[in-house]
Amino acid sequence: MGRIEDSFMTNRLYYRDSFLYDFDGEIVEVVAPSGAEARTGLVLDQTAFYPTSGGQVHDTGWIAPDGAAPDTKLRVIEVAESDDGRVVHFIEGEHALVKASRIHGSVDPGRRRDHMQQHSGQHVLSAAFVRLFSLPTVSFHMGDDYCSIDLDAPSLTAEQVVAAERLANEVVLENRSVEVRFVSQEQARNLGLRKIPPVEKDELRLIDIRDFDLTACGGTHVSGTGQIGAILLRKTEKVRQGWRVEFVAGERAIATARHDFTVLSEAAGLFSSHIWDVPQQVRKSLEEVRSSRKGREQLLEEIAELHAKQLLAETAAEAGRKMIVRVLPDRDVAFVKLLAQRLTRLDSTTVVLLGATAGQPSLVFAQAPGMPFDMGALMKDAMAKLGGRGGGSKDMAQGGTPKADQFDEVLRDLAARLKA
Ligand SMILES: [Zn+2]
Repeated sequence: MGRIEDSFMTNRLYYRDSFLYDFDGEIVEVVAPSGAEARTGLVLDQTAFYPTSGGQVHDTGWIAPDGAAPDTKLRVIEVAESDDGRVVHFIEGEHALVKASRIHGSVDPGRRRDHMQQHSGQHVLSAAFVRLFSLPTVSFHMGDDYCSIDLDAPSLTAEQVVAAERLANEVVLENRSVEVRFVSQEQARNLGLRKIPPVEKDELRLIDIRDFDLTACGGTHVSGTGQIGAILLRKTEKVRQGWRVEFVAGERAIATARHDFTVLSEAAGLFSSHIWDVPQQVRKSLEEVRSSRKGREQLLEEIAELHAKQLLAETAAEAGRKMIVRVLPDRDVAFVKLLAQRLTRLDSTTVVLLGATAGQPSLVFAQAPGMPFDMGALMKDAMAKLGGRGGGSKDMAQGGTPKADQFDEVLRDLAARLKA
C-alpha cells in the first residue's frame, strides 16, 4: 500500500443522490480471495453502492469492466465499509481485474428502493413517537422480512402504537420533501436534531423531512415522504432497554398485508366464515374441544369403573387377597392408572399388576391401603428387567419401557413371587 492510497476515502455518490443507480468509476484496489472466502473485493474511486452501516443493509448490483462483453457483468453480493472509510464491493469468485481500469457500476434498483422506503419510513416513525409521546429511538434494525426500532420507553400501549402509525402515515400522505443537507458540528448543535451521531466528524449529513424531522444519517432516503408508500406497525415486545416495535414500509407493507390476508382467508375457509369472524370461530372451536375432552374423560372414568367391577367379579380371592394381573392392549397408561385406582378403591383386598400397550408401553402396580407389599420396589425390579424407568410409593407405582413384548411373562413372575 502506497502513501497516497493510505489516505484514500471512497467518494460516496449516494450521499447526494439516492436515485443514482448507474455510475462510472475506476478500480483503486483489488482484494484477492483469501482463506475460505471465494470472493474478490473491489475498492473504487467513487461508488453509488451503499455499504452496510447505521442499521441499513448493503446494496447489491453489478459491476462491468469497460470494454467487456455485455453479458460479463459481475454480480456484487455484498458491500462493506472499512474502518478507514473505503467502500469494498465483494464479487463472487476470482477475477482478473486490475488496478486503474475503468468500470461501470449499476445498483439493483428494486432492492435500493425497498431500503429507501424502510429507512425513510423509520425516520418518520421515530419522529412520530417523539412528537406524540417523547419516546426516543435508540436503535434501528433492517431485516430481510421486517424492520424494527427500539424505543427508550418504560411502557408502550396498543393505543400509542396506533396513534404513531396514524401520524406517520399522515406525514406520508402529505408528501413532505426529504432533503439532504451538510452542516458543520457547530451549525448542527443549534438546529435541534433528533439524533446526533456520537462520532466527531467535521461535517454532518442531515436528513430533513420538511417541518417534521431533522436528523443526522448516512443512509439512502426517498426525496418525498409519499414515496415511502405506507408504514405498517406490527409486533411490539419488551426488550432489555425498552420496547421494540416491528414495522414494514412501502411495497413490504403491501406484501405483508397480502400474506396476512392469504393466511387469514385460509383460516376463514376452514370455518366457512368471514375473515373478521375467525377469532370468534377459533374461540368456539376451542370451547368445543375443551368440552368434548371433558366428556371423554368422564366416559373413560365410567368405563374404568365398569371394567373394575367386572374384573373383581371374575377374580376369586386367594389367601384373603384378590390378585388382578392383566396386560390391556389398546389402552394407554392414563386409563390403566384410572383402572388401578378404581380396583383398589372398590375392594380393600386387591393387588393389581397391569400393563398398557397403547402409546408408550407402561406398567402400573397398585395395592389397596393396608396390603403388605411394596409396589415401588416391585416396579424397580420390573424396570431393571425390562430396561425401563419408573418407581412410586408403597401402594402405587408406574413405569415406562421401550417395548411391551415381555409384559405377560414379567407380570406372571411377579405375581407368583407375591403369592409365594
Ligand atoms: Zn437514518
